[in-house]
Amino acid sequence: MLAVKLIKPFEVRVDDIPSAQAELDEALIKMKAAGICGSDIAAYRGANPLLSYPRVIGHEIAGEVLECPQNDRGIKPGDKVIIEPYLYCGRCYPCSIGRTNCCENLKVRGVHVDGGMSELVAHPVELIHKIEGIGSWEEMVMIEPLSIALHGLRRAKVGEGEHVLIFGGGQIGQLAVQAAKAMGAKPILVEPLENRRRLALNLGAELVIKPEEVSKLDLKPPVAIEASGTPQALLSAISAVSNAARISMIGWVKGKIPIETASLIKKEIELLGSRNSAGEFGLAMEMIADGRVNVRPLITEIVNICEAPDILKRISEDPNEFIKVIVKG
Ligand SMILES: [Zn+2]
Ligand SMILES: [Zn+2]
Repeated sequence: MLAVKLIKPFEVRVDDIPSAQAELDEALIKMKAAGICGSDIAAYRGANPLLSYPRVIGHEIAGEVLECPQNDRGIKPGDKVIIEPYLYCGRCYPCSIGRTNCCENLKVRGVHVDGGMSELVAHPVELIHKIEGIGSWEEMVMIEPLSIALHGLRRAKVGEGEHVLIFGGGQIGQLAVQAAKAMGAKPILVEPLENRRRLALNLGAELVIKPEEVSKLDLKPPVAIEASGTPQALLSAISAVSNAARISMIGWVKGKIPIETASLIKKEIELLGSRNSAGEFGLAMEMIADGRVNVRPLITEIVNICEAPDILKRISEDPNEFIKVIVKG
């Protein structure tokens, strides 16, 4: 089968590899659409410390079930499904309290083990969700990134009517804007690119501002979501939020950020890491299916599997030109 494989940093190609085989507890899925994520670009650049090479990438995978074992999840051949790519151990402390997204022994498909940007993928049936009510494969793929945005918002316990300061107008930021709105909150997007600010405004942001305008805000949001992956955004969030605020950090910042911890104490800020998602796929699916979240305007380009290496290079060279690219199976 054809698979998109990172050989080493800055070297990616489509390889013909042995077809995926399902284990006893796994379903075999024909990949129909695979999303390219910021973490895939980081992996291409050799900047994802969790990933080892060579690696078939792809953790945002929607497809059709070809074979599957008997299961109590109602999944059968022919179903349209999305995979939940976070393979957890079920034995460690975070797993024991339901926070399987940050399992001590976590293996993410496409990062620690081979991913699904290939013609076929085998995945535990327990971690597969049947999709209903969403029209196209490319929209179905967006369930995974939306679950990431929802997890960040839930970590920060976003409440109705609260202003949420969202840093970064990439896919996660744009999804967080819409999800926050759907939760009854008032999203404010902080983003340097004009076209991304305009997009967020069209998608329901209460206000959109440039990074340098954060210090001039005449309100103090009780919640901030960091989805830009820049050190400055976190520092800016800490000074902009109200006392007793919550800040979710979704973007992976490489290196260290010098934080004046006294301001965290003085303001009693909760600084929360937010990784992957746990239990958010169902809500993400509903929000896309009923139109509360519109993912179509976020899809910049759709390519076929043989074009994937070329588009990965293009996104890496010019990330501002792309929000979401989908590889069709
Ligand atoms: Zn991702
Ligand atoms: Zn675990």
